[in-house]
Amino acid sequence: MNRSVSSELYVLSSPTGQILAVSEAMRPLQAQVSNLLADLTQSGENTEVVLSGRTYNVQRQVLWSEDGQVFGIMLSFRTMKSDARLGEMALTLSSKLEIEHVLENVVRFAMELLDADAGALPIYDAELDRLLPGHLVNLPVDLIVPITGKRRGLMWQIIDQRTSLLIADYADHPAALPELVNIGVRSLLATPILYGQTPLGILAIYRMRNEPFRESDRDLLQAIAQQTAIALQSARLYRRAIRDADERFALYQTSIELGATLDLEQLYQVIHRAVTRLVNHQRFVIAILNEQRLVDYVYIITPDGRRTHQRLPLHCGLAGYVLRFGVSLRLSGAHAIPEPAIQLLPDIEGDPAQGTLMATPLSLGDRIIGALVVWNNQYDAYSKADLNALELLAATVAVALQNAFRFAQIQTLAITDNLTGLINRRHFLNILHHEIERSRRYHTPVSVAMIDIDYFKQINDTYGHLVGDHVLREVAQRCRQHLRDVDILARYGGEEFALILPETTYEQAMVASERLRKTIAAMPIMLDGKSLHTTLSIGVASFHPTLYPDPSSFIADADRALYLAKQRGRNRVCGVQELTNNAES
Ligand code: GH3
Ligand code: MG
Ligand code: MG
Repeated sequence: MNRSVSSELYVLSSPTGQILAVSEAMRPLQAQVSNLLADLTQSGENTEVVLSGRTYNVQRQVLWSEDGQVFGIMLSFRTMKSDARLGEMALTLSSKLEIEHVLENVVRFAMELLDADAGALPIYDAELDRLLPGHLVNLPVDLIVPITGKRRGLMWQIIDQRTSLLIADYADHPAALPELVNIGVRSLLATPILYGQTPLGILAIYRMRNEPFRESDRDLLQAIAQQTAIALQSARLYRRAIRDADERFALYQTSIELGATLDLEQLYQVIHRAVTRLVNHQRFVIAILNEQRLVDYVYIITPDGRRTHQRLPLHCGLAGYVLRFGVSLRLSGAHAIPEPAIQLLPDIEGDPAQGTLMATPLSLGDRIIGALVVWNNQYDAYSKADLNALELLAATVAVALQNAFRFAQIQTLAITDNLTGLINRRHFLNILHHEIERSRRYHTPVSVAMIDIDYFKQINDTYGHLVGDHVLREVAQRCRQHLRDVDILARYGGEEFALILPETTYEQAMVASERLRKTIAAMPIMLDGKSLHTTLSIGVASFHPTLYPDPSSFIADADRALYLAKQRGRNRVCGVQELTNNAES
């Protein structure tokens, strides 16, 4: 291809500023030049003029005739050396690292240097394989968005083939978009912005007037595009560095907050806040794998707010998938559901077909203790960087959760009796205190029963301590099974149990205790082929604010009733009302 170079632009002028001759390439600019000629013939050696929006450097040579007269003035027009202009552009571009700034300046430079009427710099997102409108000049954005979005038009050809494109007569081109023809686009010059082999975007310029781009313009646009690639890449790296810094700060803040609490509920909220700082989402789930290998959805945020805890089997949900396979997920669209197929929980975790979902395991070494799941209602909302951020957070979160679990365990140990698994005496008295206060305030009934195993010493003496222990455990478990969930059963001492019956009157407590006594008496405990008959003596009292100023007086009365039951021959229930009767009789 024959390059039409700028040195071919000549004008021969008379000393008075009349055009005597022009070179072929100069002809389209002749009218503009003739207006400037009076000035140009008078000016110094080097001047700059702008013709059709392009800057030219004008060199002036005086031509002499044989008789020593000034014959004419030769003006040669050279475009500003492109590399000088590009250097200028590079400087401008590197002065600021914001992507928007780069885009705006590149389009402005390209339009100015190549005398275009409109320009565009759509950005290509390689990870998601999509074009974003980027920066536009003299092009309506609502026209470009559908073009870049739908893989239509020549833009995608440029991305796919990584080659530039010059179309002199756009309207006649088979791939021309009617939308662009309609707004008057006559010719187009576009080139990919390549960083190495990676397309970062497209630099496109348009002319609306009937003066098509030339082959020589293509080189210049490509040079601009190369410069742009470097600027864009640095802007991207800069943006990532800023983002990383933000991320690190968010993680740092989170780790401080995470370290500041051992309360599980508070911890869940800290985790939620941290995730909110990192990624946009409409749903958020903290799922924990429990000892029965079931998934506890301990924290569920949906667009309607916080949900109550749920317990689900491992084959359900993306949290379950993550827990089983130990991999992170980033899904958008129904086709993206991983194999083997899973039973989705769109109500809790969100539907990947309706947006974007990320799930990441909470791991401690190679042990997976739970999962975090976030969902955004937009398609392709999360990038690889977002998933990395979530994974980083998950590492910190896993440690904090583990600490909180351990703490909760220690707390449980402090209130639990080792042998029977029932709560201990201290915790029982604590609860009793609260139940009494509640009864005082709301005038609701509350009863207690003191339970003692009859002739337990004989069991120990006959069969040994270990058998005694077994009987204690067995009695505790059977009693627990025959009580309501709200009833509080504790190991009060050696072979003595204590029971709080909330919202229960004296009469109801007598009935419940009698039922308990019968149950234990009816079913001997089997051990190594031996059948051990065990019976209980039970003393019942009901709270009354004037009778009992404190828990200990309340318990003491129930104890008296228990003593009465023992006195009356054991394997029986006595209530405090019998005490009074006893005292009276
Ligand atoms: P009573 O019918 O009067 O209640 O007679 P008892 O034998 O049950 O009562 P006593 O208070 O004389 O004996 C209670 C026994 O319980 C004595 C103690 O060695 C035993 N004991 C207390 N704690 C444990 C324990 O944790 N394990 C075992 N195996 N025995 C225990
Ligand atoms: Mg006993
Ligand atoms: Mg006893």
